[in-house]
Order: sequence, then C-alpha cells, then structure tokens
Amino acid sequence: MALSAPGTPRNVSMKKGTPGMVDKITRTVIRTPKTQFSTPRPICMTPKSKRLNSLPDTPECFSAVAVETPIAKRRSSKDKFDEISNLTVAVRIRPMNSRELACIGAVDIVKVCDDQLIIRTQIGSNGNMSTDHVFHYDHVFWSCDELNPKYATQEDIFRTLGDPLLDSAFRGYNACLFAYGQTGSGKSYSMMGKNMCEIIDIDSQQFTGITPRFCRNLFDRISKLENSAASVEVSYFEIYNEKIHDLLANSNAMNRAPLKVREHPELGPYIVDLSVHVVKSYKELRNWLLIGNKNRATAATVMNEKSSRSHSIFSIELCLSEGLIEEGSSRRSRVSLVDLAGSERLGNSHNTEEKIREGVCINKSLLTLGKVISALSDQKKNQFVPYRDSVLTWLLRESLGGNSLTSMLATISPANTHLDETLATLRYACQARSIINRARVNE
Ligand code: ADP
Repeated sequence: MALSAPGTPRNVSMKKGTPGMVDKITRTVIRTPKTQFSTPRPICMTPKSKRLNSLPDTPECFSAVAVETPIAKRRSSKDKFDEISNLTVAVRIRPMNSRELACIGAVDIVKVCDDQLIIRTQIGSNGNMSTDHVFHYDHVFWSCDELNPKYATQEDIFRTLGDPLLDSAFRGYNACLFAYGQTGSGKSYSMMGKNMCEIIDIDSQQFTGITPRFCRNLFDRISKLENSAASVEVSYFEIYNEKIHDLLANSNAMNRAPLKVREHPELGPYIVDLSVHVVKSYKELRNWLLIGNKNRATAATVMNEKSSRSHSIFSIELCLSEGLIEEGSSRRSRVSLVDLAGSERLGNSHNTEEKIREGVCINKSLLTLGKVISALSDQKKNQFVPYRDSVLTWLLRESLGGNSLTSMLATISPANTHLDETLATLRYACQARSIINRARVNE
C-alpha cells in the first residue's frame, strides 16, 4: 500500500475554473436572493381555501402555512444560458423507530408530495388548529418500507445522489456529498449502510449505503473503460474537536497525534502525513472502508459515542489517463463522501467540559459550512467565503462552489418528538438549496 510521504500534498485536485477536459463550458455564478442562515422565513397565514392544492386535509377552523423555501428561478435555454444548480439538496425521512413508536403521544408529522415536504404541527389540545411548514427540495425520499414499494430504497438514494457524482468524477470534476441531520436521523445508514462494520451488510443489496455502492460502481465503470487507464487512491479520516485523525493509519487513530492541515500554494489545503492507499479493485477498496469504519467504531466506544460527534470524510481520488485524446493527458478528480457530526444542539444541563467543547466545535464547523454556503449563494463579486474558519470547510474548499458538484442529504425523523431539530435541519437544507451556478455555453 502506498502511504503518502510526509509533507507531500496528495490532493492534486482540479483548480477552480479548470473544468477538466470539458473546456467548452465556463461556469459563472449568478446572484440569488440573499438569505442568512437561521433567519426566520416569513410565515403567511392563509385561509384554508387558498392553501396549496396538494396539502393534505386539515382540521376545520384555521391553519397557517409557513412557506419556507426560496425557489430559485431558472432561465430558459433561449437566453443562451443554462442555469444549473451544482448543488443538489435531498431530504430522507427515516421510519419511526421502536422508541418513537412506544412513546405515548409520538406521531408522524411529515407529509410528502413530490418534491414538497410538509411538517404539520397541531396546536391546541383538540387539534383544531395546525401549522404547516412547507419546504421544497430537489428530492424528498421516504424510507424503504416493504408495505409501501413507493418508498425509496438504498439503491434509489444511490441512483439519485451517488450516480451523478460518479459521472462528475469521470468528467474530471471534484464532487462532494454530505449527510446532515441530528444524531439518530439516518446519516450513517444512508452513507454506509445498516451495519457499517460488517462485510455482509456492506455487500448486501438491501442495506448497502451510498459510499460502498459508489466504490463498487466506480470499479464497474473502470472495468468498462476503453483506451484509458485509471488509478484510484483513497483516504479516510475524521475531524473531532477540530482535530484530524487518520482512520486508515496503522495504529489506532485515537492514540496518534492529530494531523495538521497545510496550504499548498497551487494545490490548496492538504493533510500532512495522511495515509493514502492505492486500490486496484472494489475488494481492496471495501477492505479499507471496513478498516476505517472499525477504527471509527472503536474510537466511538472509547470516547462515549464520539462517532456522532465527529465528521468522517472518505475521500476517493480518480486519475484517468486518456490514450485517445492526447498523449499523456489525464484528468484528476476527487470525491469526498462526508458523514457530518449530529447537528443537534446540546442542552445546557449535565454537560461536562468535554461535551461543551465538542458542542462548540461542531457548532463552529456546521455554522461555518452554513456561512460558506450562504456566501456562495450571495454571489457578490469578490465575496469573502470563510472556508478557513473551520477545518471541515477548509478541507472541502475544492468541493464546495465553483465547478464542483455538491450534494447534500438531510436526514430527519418523522416524529413530533423531534420537531425542533427537524425544522432546524430542513431550514439548513433549504438555505443550501439557494446556491445556483450558471453555465454559459460558448458558441
Ligand atoms: P445517525 O448516523 O444520523 O446518527 P443512524 O444512521 O445510525 O443515525 O440511524 C439510527 C438508527 O435508525 C439505526 O438503527 C438505523 O439502522 C436506523 N435507520 C436510519 N435510517 C433508516 C432508514 N432510512 N431505514 C431504516 N432504518 C433506518
């Protein structure tokens, strides 16, 4: 296995504005309405008769609709502009778990209608008033349920979110998918699968998550390449309290000193001494994934469920050498698959100093991620994007904005017992959706 030489930058990723081999397209960014994270959206109180047709039945009397989504306008291609969003935002609702089902008074408050997601809250003990929060996303997925085949399976999620990232990587663009949501909402299930440490689960059709599916499809596509050679390198690390731990290093990640981030003048940020592994088959890649997952789980046991308090980043670098185009020409892309720390706010009581520090670090990185997205969506010329305010955004810099394809999967519970966290997740996802990049097609 090839380990990176100390101090060697391994992230030879595409520079912004350098769209791989696709040189006919230059992408610029258009201005979208400025929206701030955590700014409450206007609530329009609408008589029942004027509510959206697709809303489900409401109790008599009165209801309020909070339309929470800024819907970005797209121009027609007649304007010689193809406006495309480089950021896809999807929401996945997991089924009620046994704890929620056993909880007296816990009810399902989520309704889905196409790409519209409605959170219905009953006000008053007789339930005769309700508030609907209406959100729009690129995709809304119900979870897999054998009784209802309309629900999305792990394969559906991969086809919708993972496949475009794979296409993007083969075209020489960087790509990033991150799962966002409170602990227990289904981030790891979606990214890795039901049991991320079991080889049977990781290979099963039913439970396998996006990351192993991505890896398998990557090698399927490589095996079908004609006149091209491909090389694949992987690394896997986690960020806990703003410190980086290598999940594929020889000894237990948590016993080693945290790794440092440096900035290469041309290649951007990189992690000093991060182990990088050349893989030649899906089987090899899967073994590294299992090692990393086991290291993550071990560290979690040692440090009290730490896994939900850390961000994990599985990074795949693909280099394609195309014999047909030009001798020696190659395109390089990086795909980052990110399972973010739980987004829930920690209560003030019973918190140890360590928990408070964890909370501060998580808030800082998720807030910075929000600010980065907000700055990208503001699109003012020379707008300052605070990538360096957190380790997470600094390392993801090459994958957020510009020509990179980014997808966000927000995961939520359907139960009213998680209403506040669910609304916070949905608003965060809503804000992310306002990033629109525009591709101008040169004549
Ligand atoms: P998180 O990573 O957000 O903390 P997990 O992915 O560990 O949450 O999910 C918590 C529990 O819910 C796990 O037992 C998982 O198997 C289950 N779960 C999550 N999402 C789904 C889903 N879409 N379908 C079925 N079970 C799910």
